[in-house]
Amino acid sequence: MQDAQIRKVFNEFCKLDKEKQLELLLHLFAALSPTLKARFTRRIFSFSTLDLTKGELEEFLSEERFAGGRSCPHCGKKHVIRNGRRTSAKDENTKYQRYLCLDCKKTFGITTNTIAASTKKDLYTWQKYMHCMVEGWTLRKSAEYCGINLKTSFAWRHKVLDTLCKIQDDIILDGIIEADGTFLPVSYKGNFSKSDFKLPRRARRRGGDQHTRGISREQVCIVTAVNRSGKSIAMVTNYGNPTTMALRYALDRRIEPGSNLCTDGRAGYKHLAKENGLKHHALVSGKVSFGIYHIQTINNYHSQFGKFIKGFNGVATKNLNHYCAWHNFNNFAKETPDEKESILVNYSLSTDRKFLYADTRKYQSMPKRIPDTLEELRKMHRPQAMVPLE
Ligand SMILES: [Zn+2]
Repeated sequence: MQDAQIRKVFNEFCKLDKEKQLELLLHLFAALSPTLKARFTRRIFSFSTLDLTKGELEEFLSEERFAGGRSCPHCGKKHVIRNGRRTSAKDENTKYQRYLCLDCKKTFGITTNTIAASTKKDLYTWQKYMHCMVEGWTLRKSAEYCGINLKTSFAWRHKVLDTLCKIQDDIILDGIIEADGTFLPVSYKGNFSKSDFKLPRRARRRGGDQHTRGISREQVCIVTAVNRSGKSIAMVTNYGNPTTMALRYALDRRIEPGSNLCTDGRAGYKHLAKENGLKHHALVSGKVSFGIYHIQTINNYHSQFGKFIKGFNGVATKNLNHYCAWHNFNNFAKETPDEKESILVNYSLSTDRKFLYADTRKYQSMPKRIPDTLEELRKMHRPQAMVPLE
């Protein structure tokens, strides 16, 4: 910083508290010309949490986690004090800040109740794993890169994917939306060990085709909707063709009223559009498009999704929602890889979301029961990506 004038302003800026600094920055940004705005965002978006030192990473995460003031993850109360810095068994070289709750007398650290809690590795290893997730690396390659074993690599993948599902649960689509279903053969992979699970059909030989041609109950339907700015929703709903209630289950109240909905004209979409105040454009796949209203984006999405899933040598149906969320985030969302990495680190390491390896056994993708009426559906909690098995 050579310019004396800039240095003077900067020194004043440093004296402000953090919230005010942010507020001022936003004002300054708004005052820039469009060209400078573009130059600014190009420079800023090269920010990656991978460039942070261990100390800076901890500071970054604790500011994110306690943005609304420090509170206790055990009881939620705010009488919290610092309780010294300790090394943990995970990481003998770094001291992490501990906190004490004066209400429940329990202590906690910044990762308590997050997916990084009760794992034997430090935050830095977790952060490296987020890099692997954004790169879409295999379990083995990720394990080698992070110095963890294959089983841990699998558990961590699903912990991260669980938080991605959570992010996806909050997405509301806007603008021009294209919706359609895609189908994958049912796979009972991973259902056999440690349970008395029985295959509800005769076993399929490796590499063999489904018993029936076309869309049958041996295929699961994934209802998908995407917009043109990289937002997407994908959810396993039912076996075979999607019913009207299945479409509602995935998409009711997930689209901004007044938006344009482009579909292949299946009857269910007409109901959905009417009930959600959308303008419906029914198109016949591959034949008709009305200018900007087409279903090309979702067709591309589905072919890309098919290739993505093939890369994993068969994904168990119970894990499909996880892989949908991963595809949406890695391959469809428009943020840069660096931004995605920051989002993952930030969100999954600073949000209350305990997800244990054992949970992968307890959950399934398919909704237990889709309600029979719209009224009943709307009384339900917003569809969660993962549904506990009964
Ligand atoms: Zn407490």
